[in-house]
Amino acid sequence: MSAEHKLSGSNRVVVKIGSALLAHDDGRLRAEWLDALARDIAELRDDGAEIMIVSSGAIAVGRRLLGLARGPRNRALRLEESQAAAAAGQVRLAHAWQETLGRFDVPVAQILLTIEDTEDRRRHLNARNTIATLLRLGVVPVINENDTVATDEIRFGDNDRLAARVAQMMGADTCVILSDIDGLYTADPTKAPEAEHVAEVYAITPEIAAMAGETAGDDGSGGMITKIEAARVAMQSGCRLVIADGRVTYPLAALEDGARATWFVSNAEPHTARKRWIAGTLKPEGTITIDAGAARALANGTSLLPAGVTAVEGRFERGDPVVVCDADGRELARGLVAYDSADAQRILGRQSSEIETILGYRGREEMIHRDDLVES
Ligand code: GLU
Repeated sequence: MSAEHKLSGSNRVVVKIGSALLAHDDGRLRAEWLDALARDIAELRDDGAEIMIVSSGAIAVGRRLLGLARGPRNRALRLEESQAAAAAGQVRLAHAWQETLGRFDVPVAQILLTIEDTEDRRRHLNARNTIATLLRLGVVPVINENDTVATDEIRFGDNDRLAARVAQMMGADTCVILSDIDGLYTADPTKAPEAEHVAEVYAITPEIAAMAGETAGDDGSGGMITKIEAARVAMQSGCRLVIADGRVTYPLAALEDGARATWFVSNAEPHTARKRWIAGTLKPEGTITIDAGAARALANGTSLLPAGVTAVEGRFERGDPVVVCDADGRELARGLVAYDSADAQRILGRQSSEIETILGYRGREEMIHRDDLVES
């Protein structure tokens, strides 16, 4: 038992729900279960947590809607059929979320992402800002992979990866993977009766990875391998990840009451992990020189506004890492810039209120948002 692990007190939580939990074998949604989960989510939100849902199930639901129902041999769909099923099922799925969370006055918004959207810095910046805005407005984003336009084979388990990437991108502190098993076992418990449950993991050692290798799930669960990979990404980002049994009604409440699960504990903190990524691992593409006033503001932890910028060097795109220097060329900080170098040149030294007139579009107020800025 892991009585010391609680969901309450979390700041930002990603909850990932697999297809097998959301839909019956014939593709009908499990409405009562979903309603129970919605209550859990509403309670966690009332407790002060910002919540993002990564919901699978589009293909499972869509194949029924399109008459591509599972035959006795559970025929695998061709890629274009899966993509068509996802397109149809996603509408139904999003509607179900809206309806069920609506009962608790929780507004939802649909976000369809590709993995690249969470990995590529340029797209990352927009996806991150949009989701952050939704969270600020009290909305619960319901996220799925944009299967219809994905160019790779759609694999079950992709959403485990997506959930961890979203957690990383958003600086979540907790990622809950609701599964059809109550966590990780030393071997596949359906085959090895001596398999033991693992309650806590502090590092993805080769032994842990090997345990996952023996627990391949069916097509609805994604198996353990992708979950362990998700745990690795989450832990590196300072986010704890828990694999919990989603088959019970009120699964989050059960987890809170100490239900058996596997907790992957991170020794980092999300904010620090993201800042380390910006400061350490990215190669700067340009330099932004700022005046003394902006340098003082920066030292106080505020965003960098165009007004305080005196020079822009290098060629960079939106979202690229840049170095921020003072007039003497001393490095003060590094950050992800919200404008490309050409636009940054045009708005330097100007008030944020002038940006729209100068550029012809309404960009961000900040040259570098403080969340994307790390002091050197
Ligand atoms: N995106 C897929 C769907 O909604 C599921 C992928 C997964 O379960 O990992 O049907």
